[in-house]
Amino acid sequence: MTEGIVSVTGLIAHGRGEAYDYLLGERTVPEAEAAEAAAAAMLVLAKRPMITINGNAAALAAKELGELSCASGAPMEVNLFHRSDERMAKVISFVEGETGEKVLGRDQGGILPGIASDRSRCTKEGLMAADVVLIPLEDGDRAEAMVKLGKKIISIDLNPLSRTNQEATVSVVDEVTRAVPNITLWVKKLKGDPDQARSVLANYQNKKNLASVMDRICHELKEGHV
Ligand code: ATP
Repeated sequence: MTEGIVSVTGLIAHGRGEAYDYLLGERTVPEAEAAEAAAAAMLVLAKRPMITINGNAAALAAKELGELSCASGAPMEVNLFHRSDERMAKVISFVEGETGEKVLGRDQGGILPGIASDRSRCTKEGLMAADVVLIPLEDGDRAEAMVKLGKKIISIDLNPLSRTNQEATVSVVDEVTRAVPNITLWVKKLKGDPDQARSVLANYQNKKNLASVMDRICHELKEGHV
């Protein structure tokens, strides 16, 4: 935060995430494992996959996202909620430094319809052109706007009730630094085998998976495990 990568409200969002992680036992639960495999299958089968990175995702998991980008061929783009030209340059340079990869976002010629203010800005060649977008720790408005444009969304968000998770095609309820390397492992397994990727996706039901995460939290609370 002191370096300007994460905003103050970003830190509060991290706190929300930690609370949910605690309720889930600070581990990758079986529902998350299933969602991570489905997320990888979607990335592998996509025509133009894309990873969008905000300040939260950059600060917590830039390196891991860079590795996923290399494995999946999905380019990274920085999109900020609290946007200024200075902060955009700072976060892009930070992610490039951490990953050694080129990151999109310096030239934001596209607009996500339905989003007020500068945070609607994105790149034409990245986010606007993508069919499948991975959105770690994203806010609900932007997720909804992407879905309205016909994009398939993979969220990574520890709150099973968040609008982002409710909007996503695949909702990964797991801590971002555990989720991303696991998706990368699955990408490596599935990328040479599109039939298996299709079968993983066909057997995955997102709403059912999210409901099961909620049941798990309720059960753990009732049983006094947390
Ligand atoms: P929404 O707008 O989607 O309904 P929100 O208002 O909470 O939810 P944000 O604050 O932009 O939206 O989202 C940040 C989300 O990221 C929160 O749901 C939080 O639980 C989640 N989160 C925070 N830290 C982590 C983490 N380390 N790993 C995964 N998810 C996290």
